[in-house]
Amino acid sequence: MRVQQIANFFDGWAPKFIQWERDNTGLLVGRSQQEVTGVLLCLDVTGDALERAQKLKCNLVISHHPLIFFPMKKITPETDKTSDLIYKLIKNDTSLLSYHTNLDFTSDGVNHQTAKKLKISDIKFLKPISNKSLKLVTFVPKKDVGTLSEAIFGAGGGIIGEYTNCSFTSEGTGTFTGSGNSNPTIGEKQKFEKVDEVRLEVLINEGIRGKVIRALLEAHPYEEPAYDIYPLKSDETLYGQGVTGYLNSEMEENLFLKHISECLNCDALRHSKLTGKQIKKVAVFGGSASEHLEDAIKAGCDAFITADVRYHTFQDAENRILLVDAGHFETEVPVLEEM
Ligand SMILES: [Zn+2]
Repeated sequence: MRVQQIANFFDGWAPKFIQWERDNTGLLVGRSQQEVTGVLLCLDVTGDALERAQKLKCNLVISHHPLIFFPMKKITPETDKTSDLIYKLIKNDTSLLSYHTNLDFTSDGVNHQTAKKLKISDIKFLKPISNKSLKLVTFVPKKDVGTLSEAIFGAGGGIIGEYTNCSFTSEGTGTFTGSGNSNPTIGEKQKFEKVDEVRLEVLINEGIRGKVIRALLEAHPYEEPAYDIYPLKSDETLYGQGVTGYLNSEMEENLFLKHISECLNCDALRHSKLTGKQIKKVAVFGGSASEHLEDAIKAGCDAFITADVRYHTFQDAENRILLVDAGHFETEVPVLEEM
């Protein structure tokens, strides 16, 4: 398997178009065509992680936090830590893929996994990402529909939640008259033609639109294939920021805090003053996301679990919600299992 094939899988699961606009994800170091001998997963690229990758003969590292985030003007391993890690990756012929906020904001991504660890059910996005779904419709002779749909699926089309290769076909009749300069695949130029065609419908999204259209044009047998793209109004539930959900039964705050430390393996927690209320509905947003405190309150949550919470944010939460800082690492690491 090549690095690109693994990257394609992640592009389907955690597409770039949902990520924070200033994020830096995907192939950050290395070669897309490299044959992969093994994969090491980590939250952060560190010297230890790279040593371990080498020892385990893993020539691909997949990290959550991007090693290269700010623009770099020089790679000087003697004076700069990031440079040193990049230098080591290249020296060891090891590629690096990173999936950051795109992995945070996707279904079964960082927040879903942390919520599942906390035994939270009925998981929904705290702030769904506005609709970017499109319906692609094209018309193709029946014998070519298999090849064409495979090409569209291969480019990332036809994914609905847990299902891939989703499409719908219906049969009908296409008509056309080619000009004197045309070169029709079926029939003759300058003659009115009727062809039995299949209408193929596939769900795509804005982020893969260009890639899918290129695949369609390449695989379609016609000289000038007809295709339509419709924006969809349905609610996008595949992507969003943070999640909410429910505990199986109400819990006293102290017990809930204990539950968090057990489920997420954190010895210590920081939290706002106890509200005296029972905990049932919970918001989870792994990493530094306490700026979403108001969203969690608006969603009617009794508790909000995130990390890197500041002193004044704890004060803002007081008597309104139980705000818990369970650690940046602890609230993100559960996603590695899913990866
Ligand atoms: Zn993080």
